[in-house]
Amino acid sequence: MFKERFTITENYLPKPSRRRGGAMLGPVKFIVAHDTGNAGSTARANVKWYINTAHTVPPKDTSSAHLFVDDKEIIECVPAILGKPEKAWHVLYAVAKDNELYGANANDNAIGVEYCFGGAIDDGKSYEKYVWVLAKLCYMYKLDPATSVVGHFFLDPKRKSDPVTGLARSRRTYEKLLKDVVEEYNACTGKDTVPKYSLVQMQGEAVSTVKLNVRHLPTTKSAVEQTVAANTRLPFTGKVTNGEAINNNPVWYQDVNGNYFWSGGVEVPAQPALPANMTTTNAPLLSYVPDQKCLEFIQQHEGLKLEAYQDSAGIWTIGYGSILYEAGDPVKKGDTITIDKAFSLLTREVEEKSEAVRKVVKPGALTQNQFDALVSFAYNVGAEALKKSTLLKRVNANPADPSIREAFLMWNKAHVDGKLVEIKGLTRRREEEADLYFS
Ligand SMILES: [Zn+2]
Repeated sequence: MFKERFTITENYLPKPSRRRGGAMLGPVKFIVAHDTGNAGSTARANVKWYINTAHTVPPKDTSSAHLFVDDKEIIECVPAILGKPEKAWHVLYAVAKDNELYGANANDNAIGVEYCFGGAIDDGKSYEKYVWVLAKLCYMYKLDPATSVVGHFFLDPKRKSDPVTGLARSRRTYEKLLKDVVEEYNACTGKDTVPKYSLVQMQGEAVSTVKLNVRHLPTTKSAVEQTVAANTRLPFTGKVTNGEAINNNPVWYQDVNGNYFWSGGVEVPAQPALPANMTTTNAPLLSYVPDQKCLEFIQQHEGLKLEAYQDSAGIWTIGYGSILYEAGDPVKKGDTITIDKAFSLLTREVEEKSEAVRKVVKPGALTQNQFDALVSFAYNVGAEALKKSTLLKRVNANPADPSIREAFLMWNKAHVDGKLVEIKGLTRRREEEADLYFS
């Protein structure tokens, strides 16, 4: 059990809103440590601002985080601990470091915690709560506290310096934070540290053959979370092959709550397993639907303009790169729209492009990220271009073909003053689409 030193207050953002789409978070793989970047702003003030701007956010800002911590309180504004965890937008999808370190995008598989500091806030007290809540999240999601907390700056060093700058206000360092989280974890659990268990994700159902303890970790030394009678159906989402060996059998199943039961105490009817290198969140899709990540990716790359402008090819454009309105009439010089209108043009076109992608790719062959990357591509260059592209040919021949990256990059030129030239922004977008495709 984890020592409850502080209370967590619930003050959720409206759902659905642009800051809280309501989509469920994937399995939690790490925790991102942020600070608000705004000395003196309290947890309550930050959450209030998020709530007030949840629907009509300032241009390009759909950001959010799960928890805000100051000297007085810990507020959960997107479910993470008190409620079933949902996605929040706290790290750019385009950054690659999170994929490199944890094999996942922060917005899909991580909790974001914001540290409030400075001004009238007592930094020491705020820090104590911050460290505790980071440690608690590690416990809750069975993460190794020594390797599972990462600073936002570490994932996105070009744009971010949090929480280093916030911590520096009270002469604390990032290194100290990481060390303190481990110490806090040990203090609150009585040194119930998390050894390295290798988990293979697989879905299935077991039936207990005896009265069975379900434990926090795959070892009999760990706390009993639940005891089930014989003949209880136990759905599982993963399997650990290096848990504590009982009768020479080290295999434990992970249940839907993230707890474990020993495989020797159950029977499992034969069933297909997911390949070990595929997570349940990025497995091939039977029916292709773009997710929030896809929408956000397109928003970030198109940018938002509420007044009509000419793109690099001279075409009048508005909102998130839209060139047509719903009725099919083109954007003209002098047009202006609201943020809500821009958003509805965006979602309509994303759906339209998704439909176009669905029509030309093989069903069941692509992962969510692969599909999302192709939708972004079609949004930018058009469905007709995708249809005739080398990219599509390669994707349909073999979705894992590494030369697909190069096929994305073929589309980095536009006509400027009648000449076909490379556009740096397009090269970048194609690279990030390829990154998304291969993540
Ligand atoms: Zn941050």
